[in-house]
Amino acid sequence: PDVPLTQFLVDAARDYPERDAIFFLGKRMTYRQVLEDSYRLAHALKSLGISRGERIGIMLPNSPQAVIAYYAALFAGGIVVQFNPLYMKRELEHQLNDAEVETLICLDMVYPRVSEVKAQTKLKHAIVTSISDYLPFPKNWLFQLKSRFDNTHVEIPEAPGVFKLKKIMAQAPSSPVETPYDSGDDVALLQYTGGTTGLAKGAMLTHRNLVVNCCQAEAWMYQAQRGADTILGALPFFHVYGMTVVMNFAVRLAATMILVPKFDRDLILKLITEHRPSYFPGAPTMYVGLINHPDIKKYDLSSINACLSGSAPLPIEVQEQFEALTGGLLIEGYGMTESSPVTHANLIWERTKSGTIGLPWPDTEARIVDLETGEVLPPGQAGELQVKGPQVMKGYWKRPEETAKVLVDGWLCTGDIAKMDEDGYFYIIDRKKDMIIAGGFNIYPREVEEVLFEHPAIQEAAVVGVPDPYRGETVKAYIVLKEGMQLSEKELEKFCRERLASYKIPRLVEFRKELPKSTIGKVLRRVLLDEEMQKNK
Ligand code: ATP
Ligand code: MG
Repeated sequence: PDVPLTQFLVDAARDYPERDAIFFLGKRMTYRQVLEDSYRLAHALKSLGISRGERIGIMLPNSPQAVIAYYAALFAGGIVVQFNPLYMKRELEHQLNDAEVETLICLDMVYPRVSEVKAQTKLKHAIVTSISDYLPFPKNWLFQLKSRFDNTHVEIPEAPGVFKLKKIMAQAPSSPVETPYDSGDDVALLQYTGGTTGLAKGAMLTHRNLVVNCCQAEAWMYQAQRGADTILGALPFFHVYGMTVVMNFAVRLAATMILVPKFDRDLILKLITEHRPSYFPGAPTMYVGLINHPDIKKYDLSSINACLSGSAPLPIEVQEQFEALTGGLLIEGYGMTESSPVTHANLIWERTKSGTIGLPWPDTEARIVDLETGEVLPPGQAGELQVKGPQVMKGYWKRPEETAKVLVDGWLCTGDIAKMDEDGYFYIIDRKKDMIIAGGFNIYPREVEEVLFEHPAIQEAAVVGVPDPYRGETVKAYIVLKEGMQLSEKELEKFCRERLASYKIPRLVEFRKELPKSTIGKVLRRVLLDEEMQKNK
């Protein structure tokens, strides 16, 4: 469908004006209100002189402002650039400069960081909002939220180029704003990749990419009804996964989103029992966190009938335990920033194949090619996964060489090693970059991690290849034990020996309290490896 993404919001407000779009810590907003506020902010942005195609940064946790700022920026003809509110100065400065952002809508708590880097960037306008702009909520939540950033109240100085969101919106009309738009090829977003394997790159996602991925989701979720669902928004909207699969998809369906500004297990459990969402898209670490909550059995999670897990491999134990708690299905899907993001998923209403990422979504092609020759491989053989479809990005922003490496004849080279079975289901084996070569053998860290995960005392595990003078690389495991559990290296070795070929057994083991993770909850093997390198210097 050739419409700008903003059409979803216009349609939802037209068809379901009084339906709740948002629940946010006690605050409700209808679709009519969300649309009106988006128009107000769009008018305000235009009166700041924002021109078409200009990059508008958003640096907010899940909140009404995050949804409104996103749609307002698009209504005004801008290109949205999402910033993680936890970015520190270095990351913030890099992304502001890389995307050439002149206007940033941010939370008051991060403003001090913004003002410190401002002089080194092209930033002209900062529009600042406080969480309480949209909240009459109890103080304890405010405290919890603030403590994620810092505990001090932030006074925003009156200065040229600094605006208060509430104030500029109050002065603006709520009359309709049409999105300036030529075709689906217009870029809507520069979405930065997860930065798991290195420098984050800005993927240029078009209106069509984003609209299409929601329509594919709708086709896949064939029982979805407009104006009926409640979706738990625990995934951050500044990440491509939460943005599409929760925010835009919810707007497409005129569903109610329960906004979770911070991954806090108690908060999530409370919101589930209070608002009874039916659909809970998440990342594996979220489900791991919940099943290991000491009081999990005391909560009623029976409203949840479907969960989609993506962004990292979903261990089968986690899938089974979470399903037992909710009585609904937890299925696995796959995607990447470069494909808006979803390309594959298992069927959502019936158990198909655990341990796989399922089938390509409607209108999506996928194939496996040989890592060396580039030849297309038959079922059962491992190679690089490549995908093609209307959700695949236009390219990386200002990085033609990187783009040429990953977009080849319309195929997106994912950098993930996978295989397809005879039924057309895909299995992700691991990232090309993380493969360990020890003594001439190829080892996929994920295979070893899965075995470790089966051990009853192990809560989390990460495996990396550390340099070794004899083998080239050797397998090292980092392990987080479940609370109150003990495990010796000897016991672990015995456990592995019964389940893995000897060259795959971790030679080195380190027990830790936690593992380094990206904000979406991916274990950062790169950070573990860097630490190891530092040690050996
Ligand atoms: P960067 O590209 O900057 O290193 P990233 O690849 O982690 O970061 P994203 O685009 O957020 O950034 O993540 C896409 C990647 O996540 C995929 O290429 C794949 O490696 C991984 N992934 C997503 N879903 C799954 C899944 N179900 N199982 C295993 N891996 C997955
Ligand atoms: Mg990537």
